[in-house]
Amino acid sequence: QAKASGRNAMCFFDPQMQTNITNRVALEKDLKLALAENQFMLYYQPQVLHSQKIIGAEALIRWHHPQRGLVPPVDFIPLAEETGLILPIGQWVLETACAQIKSWEDNEHTRHLQIAVNVSARQFHQTDFVEQVSHILSHNDINPANLKLELTESLVLGDINNTILKMRKLREIGIRFSMDDFGTGYSSLSSLKKLPINQLKIDQSFIRDITSDHDDAIIVQTIIAMATSLGMEVIAEGVETEEQRAFLELLGCPAIQGYLFGRPMPIEQFEALLKKG
Ligand code: C2E
Ligand code: MG
Ligand code: MG
Ligand code: MG
Repeated sequence: QAKASGRNAMCFFDPQMQTNITNRVALEKDLKLALAENQFMLYYQPQVLHSQKIIGAEALIRWHHPQRGLVPPVDFIPLAEETGLILPIGQWVLETACAQIKSWEDNEHTRHLQIAVNVSARQFHQTDFVEQVSHILSHNDINPANLKLELTESLVLGDINNTILKMRKLREIGIRFSMDDFGTGYSSLSSLKKLPINQLKIDQSFIRDITSDHDDAIIVQTIIAMATSLGMEVIAEGVETEEQRAFLELLGCPAIQGYLFGRPMPIEQFEALLKKG
């Protein structure tokens, strides 16, 4: 339509675009205050074996906005990445998760539990990321093996040589790595083999139709076989139904995470679940 009305039709004012910008500016302003105002929380989603034994949790950030209510990470993590606010937020996440590991380590029933923490590209590529993490570990005095860092394929491929160096340093300290959303990125097998990864986390898009879509079933089977022969652990995310769980058990995927066993939940609820056994 703009084209039809000729050269004077250039659009100077698009109310929708204006609304989006205003919204974004407001959100960014609020995001800057959120840490100081204690508006973030970590939710914990159980990671389990087929026996329902809980082996750990993924920590997932939640923002309790004073007016907007609960803001999901997809609505603010990208903005936090763009603005650099992800750096202090990411540190807060690591601090909070490690304090939680510490508290679990003090009890013999929970000391084996691992917490997986999502790390953003910008956070990982900071020059002093290794120092930051080792500082948080020693500050909380925890077993580094209980901390698992979830990285994505795009983060890793961004600067692979530098990434390998950093991962090796963190592995020397004793930290573990999981490759999040595995299968959706473009990592080649040759780069995968160079990376000191402990676990592949099969993306939920392959799990969704696993019982009906033959291709998805084959892909998942292949990822499991590959992880196993490369000496890595494997976990499936987004497991919502008993049929999906049973299918994954049949394929030999030992660990699962998803709404079937539990949604991400506040720590009190997670600990209640642990007590129930
Ligand atoms: P992710 O790391 O791949 O996390 C898995 C997402 O799938 C979570 O969404 C989780 O709530 C959701 N999920 C878990 N089980 C199921 C299921 O059975 N069905 C379905 N449909 N979804 C399920 P969430 O919490 O909204 O987080 C979205 C993304 O935001 C995360 O994807 C991660 O990339 C990012 N994120 C979350 N917390 C953090 C954080 O602390 N730091 C950073 N950098 N990113 C984070
Ligand atoms: Mg994750
Ligand atoms: Mg994921
Ligand atoms: Mg994801």
